[in-house]
Amino acid sequence: MKHKIEHRGQIIPYEVVYAKRKTLEIRIHPDKRVVVKAPNRTPHEYIEAVMHKRAKWILSKWGEMANQPPATTGYRTGDTIFYLGRAYRLEVIESARRPMVKLDGNVVIIQTRTASDTEKIQKQVERWYKAQGESLFEQMIDASIPRFEKFPLPAFDWRVRVFKARWGSCGSNRVITLNTYLMRLDVSLIEYVIVHEMCHLHEMNHGRGFYALMDAVMPDWKHRRKVLKGHRLG
Ligand SMILES: [Zn+2]
Repeated sequence: MKHKIEHRGQIIPYEVVYAKRKTLEIRIHPDKRVVVKAPNRTPHEYIEAVMHKRAKWILSKWGEMANQPPATTGYRTGDTIFYLGRAYRLEVIESARRPMVKLDGNVVIIQTRTASDTEKIQKQVERWYKAQGESLFEQMIDASIPRFEKFPLPAFDWRVRVFKARWGSCGSNRVITLNTYLMRLDVSLIEYVIVHEMCHLHEMNHGRGFYALMDAVMPDWKHRRKVLKGHRLG
């Protein structure tokens, strides 16, 4: 259900999700959506009162989010590009030679035919991330399998592609898809996404069984999820 409150002239829209739970929780999503998870039958006046009490906090969180640097500032020389959790300086070199991307110290060098075509450069970066990801993710999946020793996994397949709004997915056909842009993140977060999707091979939805399995195979997953939530896609 969608609602809103007003705080010092600012409208704060929020959604309420009722669930079987004991406490009320306000969550701010990376897209700034405010979602209140409330125990079943919580009177709406109570939720509204809590929202008013937390309004200042929500506005300050929104402010912080506005100041976060975007994942990539662009695709021109001097811009920032992330690779495995580290920020690199981008250097775009125009050349008639074969287009390529390479890491050199703190710099990611992109050799391209048209330096002004940032869309094409972005595609080039995506191809590079994907190629690096395909070998890294394979190693990481192999390394994660022992976590499931007590929960033997069925055979599965995996692939890498660009998703606009999610880091990974697992279909009922047992195909795990990992987002190309995971390559921007620290390996501990990539590992979290991989293990999360592997858990879906046993538990398709995010029910209690799913989280019990996450607890068993990756005891610190909550911390990793929290860090991941600070990263925006796109
Ligand atoms: Zn999931």
